[in-house]
Amino acid sequence: MDTDLARTWVQAIAAAVEKHKDHLTQLDSAIGDADHGVNMHRGFSAITAALTDYKADTPGAVLVKTGTTLISSVGGASGPLYGGAFRAIGKALDTPATDPRQFAAALAAGLAGIQKLGAAAPGDKTMIDAYALALAAVRQQADAGADFAAAAVAAADAAEEGMRATTPMQARKGRASYLGARSMGHQDPGATSTALIFRALAEAVVAR
Ligand code: ADP
Ligand code: MG
Repeated sequence: MDTDLARTWVQAIAAAVEKHKDHLTQLDSAIGDADHGVNMHRGFSAITAALTDYKADTPGAVLVKTGTTLISSVGGASGPLYGGAFRAIGKALDTPATDPRQFAAALAAGLAGIQKLGAAAPGDKTMIDAYALALAAVRQQADAGADFAAAAVAAADAAEEGMRATTPMQARKGRASYLGARSMGHQDPGATSTALIFRALAEAVVAR
């Protein structure tokens, strides 16, 4: 992860959010308040604007800016949760990191941020169900001596698996938890946007 890749990653997320905005909102209309696509789109449009004239020397600077912009521009739960995560990832990447192990450490800091704020655990039917599997995949790739690109692709695949696994779960955190057992049978919107975020990274890395 260098400064260019951080920028390309964030741009790729913005493009994916634009493309899948209606789908994210549709998922949130089933078990939430039908604004997840709108929230993510508002946040990543603000980030695209904020990064245009922003001079960053490190990948961390790009990602911290991404996080602070999300926090200030998104009203829903996902804004502070993703914002805190990107800030924590950015703080851990104050120098370029090519080793998947360093990236895993940064992602772990991001997950800790999400859990500190939202107090959700795996299995609660949230973004964490996709994120935690992506992090585990990066760790596994690092242990196997894989390069950054392989780790990014494994993370994207794992996040999508985690996203699909939320469908049968009963929500225990966030608005969807108000539905109790009626939240079962629907894919979680936040886990779906997390899968987009990790797929965007894999595509940004492979496109280099
Ligand atoms: P809101 O729920 O405020 O309308 P969004 O619709 O933008 O915010 O985001 C909803 C998503 O946020 C959920 O699908 C879930 O993945 C995630 N989420 C909600 N609460 C939590 C939490 N406490 N911890 C982790 N993720 C959460
Ligand atoms: Mg919502």
